Amino acid sequence: MMNQPAKKSSQQSHRSAGKPVGNAGKPAGKSSAAAGVRNTAKPKSPPSQTVRERASTPFAVGAASIPPRDASVLQRLADEVAARRFTTNQIHAWQREIYEQTLSLSRLISRPNFTKVGRDDLVRMIQMYDERFFAGKILPTARAEGLSFGFSSRMTRVAGKLVTHYPHGINRQRNFELILSSTLLFQTFEDVDRPVEVTGRVCRNRLEAMQRIAEHEFTHLIEMLIWNSGNCNEKRFQSIARRYFDHRDYRHDLITQRERALIKFDVRVGDQVRFYHDGHNMLGRVNRITRRATVLVENQKGERFSDGGRYVRYYVPLEKLTKVQP
Ligand SMILES: [Zn+2]
Repeated sequence: MMNQPAKKSSQQSHRSAGKPVGNAGKPAGKSSAAAGVRNTAKPKSPPSQTVRERASTPFAVGAASIPPRDASVLQRLADEVAARRFTTNQIHAWQREIYEQTLSLSRLISRPNFTKVGRDDLVRMIQMYDERFFAGKILPTARAEGLSFGFSSRMTRVAGKLVTHYPHGINRQRNFELILSSTLLFQTFEDVDRPVEVTGRVCRNRLEAMQRIAEHEFTHLIEMLIWNSGNCNEKRFQSIARRYFDHRDYRHDLITQRERALIKFDVRVGDQVRFYHDGHNMLGRVNRITRRATVLVENQKGERFSDGGRYVRYYVPLEKLTKVQP
């Protein structure tokens, strides 16, 4: 998983101390007024930014001949992964090659700050890493157990993740799922202009950011596949990520909605805001910012919160909010 550094997440604590909604972070319990909760908008991304989902992932031939979760196969991989070293020049040359190949082979990624991406782009990218850096040995071994790729729009702070499923029990054949956050990718290099670092390396565009996240999650896949354990804040992970991909950090600095809210709209958690809903001018307080802002509006029919007040929750796109100066 790739998180933001701690200094970033500390922004979460910018609650409105002393203000009614600041204390009203959580509902006081399951209230009978839950039916009063309304949502203002459908979760819909701008039309220019799409992730194309395709039915299936092409699987490499030969995967069938590799026994799933075979101790000797995994041990050979472990020895290789533990020992291999590349020069920084070689690493950067291959990363550049994958960048160029993605631009020339993808049907959707036609420029570095692409506005569309498909699952096959992620599959091809990881495949290219495997071929160059691991002699094509990782993916067939992972596929012998089960491997899928995808994008998620619901990951609003985590840039990517590798999920390991154990459908047949902890010591049996596993299922790996490698997922990148399309939300974070697309809202970075969009309207907030600042240098962005992923894995300790400055990214100049969306494609470079996607590569760094993919490399990070691929490293997680390698660790889980071989050792069935791992953590990116530990030594073994960091050694692999450094030796193979020249990563100097395990976190990202991508633009979150919380940052966009602050930079573009001057809105933060705790602020009083105004917005239109069904022709009415509503007044409320921002309680949370994920993809949209959660705004609590006082309403006697609403849910009771820990400050004793009753509120109705609205999920409002940031651009629909107007800050009310106190
Ligand atoms: Zn991680």
